[in-house]
Amino acid sequence: MSETLITAPALELRNVSKIYALKSGSGWFPKHLDHPAVQSVSLVLPRNQILGLVGESGSGKTTTGMLALRLVEPSSGAVLVDGVDITAMDHAQLKPFRRKMQVVFQDSYSALDPMMTLAKIVAEPLHIHGVGTRRDQAAAAQDWLKRVGLPGYGNRYPHELSGGQRQRVAIARALILRPTVLVADEPTSALDVSVKAQIINLLQDLQAEMGLSILFISHDLSVVRSLTDTVAVMFNGRIVEQAPTEAIFTNARHSYTRALLDAVPVLNPRDRRVRKFLSREALQADLPRLRLADLARPATPAPTAQLVAIGDGHLVEAIVTA
Ligand code: ADP
Ligand code: MG
Repeated sequence: MSETLITAPALELRNVSKIYALKSGSGWFPKHLDHPAVQSVSLVLPRNQILGLVGESGSGKTTTGMLALRLVEPSSGAVLVDGVDITAMDHAQLKPFRRKMQVVFQDSYSALDPMMTLAKIVAEPLHIHGVGTRRDQAAAAQDWLKRVGLPGYGNRYPHELSGGQRQRVAIARALILRPTVLVADEPTSALDVSVKAQIINLLQDLQAEMGLSILFISHDLSVVRSLTDTVAVMFNGRIVEQAPTEAIFTNARHSYTRALLDAVPVLNPRDRRVRKFLSREALQADLPRLRLADLARPATPAPTAQLVAIGDGHLVEAIVTA
């Protein structure tokens, strides 16, 4: 199938859940607790777009990214890449799809083999997937190092680089296979402000040049606002609100989203109000309440919260009454 013919979203999660079985207690009869890290998450990442995934630490963002890459097996639900359901595929079937999905983590240092030169590190995915000759692979690696702003760095080693330079290498390595989807999990969280801006600019340029689709996981809302097309807000393993980026920042409807936005310009971490403000009870009491007439798509009234459409791609978890 030619790439231009694919009209399906680059990536789609349908009702994906991940339940971890946790052992608690000790002795002969440990208790098994089900810990739902991700609960019934549905997400669509259109081609050539950037989807932001935000939420406080522990809300399930990384697990969602890993589920999308099938680096974590879902407990239920389906993952589709280019419209193809990859959920039940075995290792061999998955291989061509692995090529289409790449990841950049916050801590790229641990992902870069300290014994390999940067040229080898960047060329390795081509080698693994058997793309081109050794000579082609080496040339492509030099080219990508140049593209990410590290021309002539091929013979250096990871320990010779700054944090920002390492992220550049991680980006080159992730993109050399020309993936459809890049999952970027807090890629700038460990970087200084000025370096962070450079990496964001680089990602933005490469996204536009390559028509890449990016799942951008971050708790840095100012970066998310400048970079993404759509934002999904996670809380307790669920998506509680999703909307076009400007709507999230100007017309957030869920109290959790508002609390996250309120917590943005915090210079002194001790001033963070977010924890107290976000108690589960307070949020539960403050859930949006909507009438059927307020909805953009029909729903069934229920006493428990459900994710409903309130217009223009804006979804919010709310209690729906007749
Ligand atoms: P985030 O990236 O938003 O900080 P994570 O996806 O890392 O959140 O984690 C979501 C929840 O799942 C957390 O409560 C975390 O402790 C739990 N979790 C993540 N990975 C595992 C695992 N391998 N085993 C058990 N629990 C896990
Ligand atoms: Mg995380």
